[in-house]
Amino acid sequence: MNSSKRSGTVISKQSARAPFDVAHYRKDFPILAQKVYGKPLVYLDNAATTQKPQVVIDALEQYYAKENANIHRGIHYLSQQATDAYDDARVTVQKFLSARKPSEIIFVRGATEGINLVSQSYGRTFLKAGDEILITAMEHHSNIVPWQILCEQTGAKLRTSPINDDGELLVNEFEKLLNPKTKFVSIAHISNALGTINPVKRLIQMAHERRIPVLIDGAQSAPHMAVDLQDLDCDFFVFSGHKLFGPTGIGVLYGKSEYLEKMPPYQGGGDMISAVTFEKTLYNKLPFKFEAGTPHIAGVIGLGAAVNYVARIGLDPIFAYEQELLEYATRKLSEVSGLRIIGEAKEKASIISFVLADVHAHDVGTILDQEGIAIRAGHHCAMPLMERFGVPATARASFAFYNTKEEIDRLVDGLHTVLEVFT
Ligand code: PMP
Repeated sequence: MNSSKRSGTVISKQSARAPFDVAHYRKDFPILAQKVYGKPLVYLDNAATTQKPQVVIDALEQYYAKENANIHRGIHYLSQQATDAYDDARVTVQKFLSARKPSEIIFVRGATEGINLVSQSYGRTFLKAGDEILITAMEHHSNIVPWQILCEQTGAKLRTSPINDDGELLVNEFEKLLNPKTKFVSIAHISNALGTINPVKRLIQMAHERRIPVLIDGAQSAPHMAVDLQDLDCDFFVFSGHKLFGPTGIGVLYGKSEYLEKMPPYQGGGDMISAVTFEKTLYNKLPFKFEAGTPHIAGVIGLGAAVNYVARIGLDPIFAYEQELLEYATRKLSEVSGLRIIGEAKEKASIISFVLADVHAHDVGTILDQEGIAIRAGHHCAMPLMERFGVPATARASFAFYNTKEEIDRLVDGLHTVLEVFT
């Protein structure tokens, strides 16, 4: 792949109305053709991480085989190639998220690092004792703990907006919690443990009416639904490359430039400076101010390839197909005796958490694994949420656009095997 092929624009999408050609797309993912324990792999752990299409694997190989060099420093041919590829990927991500400018896209290790960057850089600068940070009861630990650390450092207070028994945010309660002390709001777009899609546009408006900045944790949304940051109007947005069919160790923090400009660097080092003396350092402009040191160049290039790949299919057809899978799976799983779905929000993404009779989620996961079916079992890094529902853990099947109804049938068969073993 040459660098011009990589550059940013979203190319011809599959029409939202045409039948979704899942068989065709599956061929793009070599790992899906594998057998485990002699059985065809059924991969239903996409909320944890997604599989990689060949174009992403090729982009990584191409970089290491033909272009490897450090960026933004060298004057030689390879360094220029690598720099162009890196910069192109930033434009690709900017267009994908409809951000205003490439300089508002900061490459980080993932959603977790993006949230830590904002909490440390923005939070330590602008929050003080007595201020409040508002999150929801369905956050992933990575959108809880960084704020707790900030509270310990500043004396600010963490508030939590409650949810109902279906796993939906109580929007009225959320609004009531917004008060003159609220200085930051940070919320998941989609819950990784319940699948709930939060009405983030409305929540952002409510916060903005009170001049409160909002971070959206898009770890579970960016890979599964179209995200238009100018339409949402959030102030910060994070996602992880590995959940978007890209490499691990790379992710994105979007920030409105008016915020990023006034925030201090998160880390110091090479590339984030424009001039250094022992007395004083002048920081580089955006986005480089927040990208200290040699970045994950291969990861960024691989992420660019992944974004181009999903953009070519189109997020609207992907979302529509995954909704079909969700409906089918919800119906089929509800027919399994003793199965209880945790999280029945009206607006849901293709994630189903469940408990099965008295069987521990880990036992469900272990037996399904023997059948070649990969699901997640545990607290899904959302321990307070598990407590809210009175369960120590759930089993979770999460779907991507390469999954099929036949795979859901295999999951249901596997659950019957679990019940046979345990009852
Ligand atoms: N937020 C949500 C909603 C998530 O699902 C995850 C990953 N499970 C994260 C944040 C953290 O992502 P990462 O570990 O890739 O930084």
